This record gives sequence, structure tokens and C-alpha cells, in this order.
Amino acid sequence: MERDLSRMTSPEADEAVRESRTVVLPIGSIEQHGPHLPNGTDTMAAELIARELAKRMDAVYAPFSPYGVTPIHAGHPGTVTLRRETFEALLTDVCSELIAAGADTVVLVNWHEGNIASMNAVATDLQDRHDVVFVAAHACYTAQRIYRDVGGELTHGGGIETLAVLAHDPDCVKVDRAGEPTRPEGAVELDRMRRGSEVYGFVTDVSELAEEGWFGNPTWATPDRAESFVDDVAAEVLTLVQSVIAAHRG
Ligand SMILES: [Zn+2]
Repeated sequence: MERDLSRMTSPEADEAVRESRTVVLPIGSIEQHGPHLPNGTDTMAAELIARELAKRMDAVYAPFSPYGVTPIHAGHPGTVTLRRETFEALLTDVCSELIAAGADTVVLVNWHEGNIASMNAVATDLQDRHDVVFVAAHACYTAQRIYRDVGGELTHGGGIETLAVLAHDPDCVKVDRAGEPTRPEGAVELDRMRRGSEVYGFVTDVSELAEEGWFGNPTWATPDRAESFVDDVAAEVLTLVQSVIAAHRG
């Protein structure tokens, strides 16, 4: 059953939050994704997975801002970035309200790397101050792991992101405008560098990765693969989220 905070009435929301005590928020970004994908790619992907996860957890789906922290794409038409302070204040306020309403578990389903530092700051701060468990799920990385063996790559505007939009709405994908699949020299290495867990560096402008602002192979995404995208990714995210909750609560 879907329990979307924005679609429920006040008494329904009261009952749903008290009963489930778990809320799921999508965290994305509005930013350029090349000539073939919509600016809202990350938000669309986060919302798809978060909605499905909420259903599977019998949790309340709480909409969040479509905007994220994305100075890396600043200056490209279509990009709208929030300042970190704005994003953190917004996330703090929304989560605090949900906690006050009765939530004791907050799951953040994210599809944009630029949000991670701010998400972590807000989650640890609120968990420290309230009797609540926060879980951060970076569904983009889960998708990367799932599709790696069949040639799927998580690059900005590449195969996996195209797949997510295809699953959301095929009319939003314009692969014919992408031209040939691109793979700028060093881009894969830079992605690996910035996504490291032991030692990592930073990319502050997308042009360091790719002059065109995107790279990868959008044609990897097929309608066939898109059909099971939400199921595949949400199932895997669910397993991981449950293991985090179990680590806290046994
Ligand atoms: Zn993206």
C-alpha cells in the first residue's frame, strides 16, 4: 500500500506515521544531464526507488525538495543548486517535523553524490538529538553494483542514469540527441578517485570529467532492462536498509 504524506489527509497521516514510525524521503538534484536526459534525472531516480522502498517497508513516503547540492554543475543551463546551508536547513526542518509527528526511523534514499556530505551531517546531528535511527541509502551506487556485471556504468548521463529515466518515463529520454557514446580520457579514473572510501579526492567542476558535461553509453539502457529497474534496485536497497536497522535494534 502506498502511504504518500502529500496525498493523505491529516487524520490518515497521523495514523500512518504513528503506526509505521518509518518515513522514506527521496533525495535528488536538478542539474544538466547532457542533451539526452532531463535535468531532474537524479530526482526522478530517487523518487522511483524511495516510493517502492516505502511500499515494501509499509512506511510513509515523504516528498522532499527536487533540488540538491550541485555546484559541480553550476553555470550549465538547467542546473539549480542549493547552498549546503540551505539544503541542510531544509532537510533538518523536514526530518524534525516527521520525528515530532512520531517517526523513529528515517530512511534517506539518495541519487546524487553532491548531497552525501550534507545528508551525513544532518542525519548524525538529528540522531544525536532525538530517539531516532537514520539510514542513508545511495541507490545510485547500489544500481552500479547490480548492473556492473552486465555492462552498466554509473557515469553522469550514462547507461544507468538513462535506465532510471527510462523506467520513470520513456518520453523523457532522447538518446538520439546524445551522439556517439563518449568516454573522455581519465573520466572513469576520476570517478573512481572521488568515490573511493579509503583515500579520495574531489571534482569541483563537471568539465574536469567531461567537456560536454556528461559521458557514458546511454544506449546500454533498454526498455527490457528498464522494466525491472525499480524492482531490482529497490529489493537490494531494502535488504541493506533492513540490515542497518537490525544493527541498531537487533
Ligand atoms: Zn545524475
